[in-house]
Amino acid sequence: KRVPVIAANWKMYKSKDEALEFIFKVNQAVPSNEVVESIVFPPAVFLNLLVKREGENLRIGAQNMHYADEGAFTGENSPMHVKTAGAEYVLVGHSERRIYYNEVSETVNLKLISAFRNDLIPILCVGETLEIKEEKRTQEFVNHQVEKALINVDKEYIPKLIVAYEPRWAIGTGKNATAKEASGVITHIREKIASLYSKELSEEVRIIYGGSVKPSNIEEILKEKEIDGALIGGAALDPENFIFFTQVA
Ligand code: 13P
Repeated sequence: KRVPVIAANWKMYKSKDEALEFIFKVNQAVPSNEVVESIVFPPAVFLNLLVKREGENLRIGAQNMHYADEGAFTGENSPMHVKTAGAEYVLVGHSERRIYYNEVSETVNLKLISAFRNDLIPILCVGETLEIKEEKRTQEFVNHQVEKALINVDKEYIPKLIVAYEPRWAIGTGKNATAKEASGVITHIREKIASLYSKELSEEVRIIYGGSVKPSNIEEILKEKEIDGALIGGAALDPENFIFFTQVA
């Protein structure tokens, strides 16, 4: 049985006080880590601060990192930097990174390999644009993103992998994919992973949904047995909502 994942991507939001208030509020309220993996992804400069204050059951991750161990890359953080700051997880290939920071599939692949090598648990983000959806090429596009991201990833790491299916047209738009739509795409992502590795390994991968998840739709989404959790932006900035999400998971 796969442990569900509830992940809050804060993006570039929250002051220090708001960040601390959030952690103090949710620390005692989230379920045990064996029941649900509850993870918060704050801006990188808050990692260390929040890790020191995280409770038993809350986990902290980084929204991004460089793939290289070190180098002349002004403004970037290495895997060692985010790990030293206390992050246990890292988002890889979020669509905002792909769109605004020119992250291409080769970079996403290198970051994924680097995360595993540095003992960080990656959440690989994939998802199609509205144009691709309208052309009915969603599955082909998403499977291709998954395949490119997993080039040279050794099978020993696959049980640790988390994939987030986040259609770009659903991110921050208020328009979520229906539970059935998301479940269909996720089922095929799992089949893709099975074809690249094995059915057995593919069944260990958590595949979650993201894109306009909110208190009013999370239950329907998580009812789908193929959907192992959610990656939530806007709605999860509110600590009460985050607690609710972890309780229904
Ligand atoms: P929203 O939940 O705000 O649509 O954002 C989704 C997302 O990008 C999470 O990574």
